[in-house]
Amino acid sequence: MNAYLDNSATTCCDKEAAELMYRVFTEDYGNPSSMHHAGVVAEQYIKDATARICKALKCDEKEIYYTSCGTEADNLALIGCAHANARKGKHLITTSIEHPAVLNACGQLEKEGFEVTYLPVDSDGLVHVEDVTGAMREDTILVSIMHVNNEIGSVQPIAEIGEAVHKKDPSVLFHVDAVQGFGKFKIIPKRMHIDLLTISGHKIHGPKGMGILYVRDKVKIVPILFGGEQQRGLRSGTENVPGIAGIGLAVEKTSRDLDKNVAHMRELKNYFVGELLKMDQVVIHGKTDETSAPHIISAGFEKVRSEVLLHALEGRGIYVSSGSACASNHPGISGTLLAIGTKKEYLDSTIRFSMSEWTTMEEMEYTVSVLKELLPQLRKFTRH
Ligand code: PLP
Repeated sequence: MNAYLDNSATTCCDKEAAELMYRVFTEDYGNPSSMHHAGVVAEQYIKDATARICKALKCDEKEIYYTSCGTEADNLALIGCAHANARKGKHLITTSIEHPAVLNACGQLEKEGFEVTYLPVDSDGLVHVEDVTGAMREDTILVSIMHVNNEIGSVQPIAEIGEAVHKKDPSVLFHVDAVQGFGKFKIIPKRMHIDLLTISGHKIHGPKGMGILYVRDKVKIVPILFGGEQQRGLRSGTENVPGIAGIGLAVEKTSRDLDKNVAHMRELKNYFVGELLKMDQVVIHGKTDETSAPHIISAGFEKVRSEVLLHALEGRGIYVSSGSACASNHPGISGTLLAIGTKKEYLDSTIRFSMSEWTTMEEMEYTVSVLKELLPQLRKFTRH
């Protein structure tokens, strides 16, 4: 049997979305900028996808931009807003547990002379609202806080933070990286004081290489790519029409079935956490209650190196991540685990199990039974 428990790294593309994309690739392949019929047909796919996304986010069509991935959407939000608002100030606020797409964009801005405050998180991986407002200064232009952490599944109080930021200074922009949160929580940017929102296709059973950036009307932002001025000049480049059609459908499907999907993932998580906690020398990082993400479980296995466990599980057809897959090109100690004060013995012994609405209880039960068998064996043979 197989168990794919690495859905926070990527998900399987929904068949209906893949079929729709195939049709656009092979039949309706026009360039939406072309003035002939094929172009008009292609443009209609974009319009349909945008309408689906706007329905889910309750926003306007001109507030949606398509990018090549979540990483590009994060970069556009941060760098595009920093450049557009540099005359007002050069200070940004974020957290120490953001995805590299945000942290490295901040690093680039620092090289350009911007100043970034990296807020700490508590032992549950949560940012405190008063720390955000406390860090705001006259010259602050943007606050960027992720919705759900990709490694431990902590869920930030986004609406509260947005409200507090705008109450203190309505001119400060609030960006939310919702790559892990979208499809697990209802996100209505205007109700949550969100000015910019990042979504990625491949985390919601949509296509890889597709991101969405919601930009609230009237937000000052400039492009980071220069070219043919597509997408109202903010994101040049011929639109990835198949990808846009695919992500539009994925957004619609995941939003439509949200409550049912979340209840299912929550049931799996509750079962799995309960079983892990019955095992010896196992800890769970962050919260596991209803306030945590329903799809991410980060567990530390004392005296077992994560890489060894990962491959032992792989040998049984179980796919997981050690720390965060997106940082796996740079193996090292996870910044998130350090930020929440994880004990030394778990830093290199942590595995992330991540589910989706497609994950079955059988996969979770199978993983529990394999863990029960493998852990004592690995502890016997792993040298520390
Ligand atoms: N932000 C978060 C929180 C993520 O988890 C990821 C990917 O894992 C990204 C951004 C980057 O998204 P993409 O893979 O579409 O570039």
